Amino acid sequence: MQEVAVGVLTEARRVFIGQRRATARYGGMWEFPGGKIERGESPVGALSRELREELGIEIAEPRYLGTVEHRYDDGDTFRVWYYRVEQWHGTFNIDLWERVAWVSIEELPSYALFEANRAILPALAASFESDDERFMRIALAEAERAARSGEVPVGCVITLGGTIIARSHNRSEEFRAATAHAELLAIRQALAHRQSRWLDGATLYVTLEPCPMCAGAIVLARIARVVFGAHDPKAGACETLYTLASDPRLNHRAVVRGGVLAEQSQAILNAFFRDHCR
Ligand code: ZN
Repeated sequence: MQEVAVGVLTEARRVFIGQRRATARYGGMWEFPGGKIERGESPVGALSRELREELGIEIAEPRYLGTVEHRYDDGDTFRVWYYRVEQWHGTFNIDLWERVAWVSIEELPSYALFEANRAILPALAASFESDDERFMRIALAEAERAARSGEVPVGCVITLGGTIIARSHNRSEEFRAATAHAELLAIRQALAHRQSRWLDGATLYVTLEPCPMCAGAIVLARIARVVFGAHDPKAGACETLYTLASDPRLNHRAVVRGGVLAEQSQAILNAFFRDHCR
């Protein structure tokens, strides 16, 4: 049995796929980059070598997704080791590929994927979901901090390439400013961290659906993706009252996912208002 190491390159919620140049077996099919494990090589070692040779990039800390066994029609079998790769450096060289695309994980199943690749999709999707919950829990911890200082408990975290680059909570009371929302403070922090005017590729996690001001800031900062907890029937501007962050008429659109740990996000708010409205 042959063994193959495959890397799923991910950025925000998109993955890299390509069509290899003219080989009979793979004809017309899309796949992730990778290749054969040489004798004496570890799967991660082979993956690093293959992506260096194929794409000209150096990868760091690939995350294991799972193993799939595959049998061709002619009876030939092989085992594929899949890794999710979020960190790499170098400039992409795509000489080996006919066509390449960055595709959202939602769109991926509609591509003519090589069969073994298709088998790993649930594990790949789950790896994105667990990230969302993990970062939302940190945003919830920020919301708790806000509650302890007598602020309306909303917390926010901004990530880039799977790493937190900013975290904040609502500080409207402290700053006596109606605009000191968690998202705005976190965006300012993230921009300072990146020393940039924009946050391309970043994901913003916030426990409550962003208001019109914050949704506007998300668009201006070119944040790639917004994940929020509870919906806000009074000011929600990403899904509930408006869809500002993903409005195609604006010059940037973010991908929005609402309702992640919504019950916990809402419970912190309910407890706060119950204690402060007596
Ligand atoms: Zn806001």
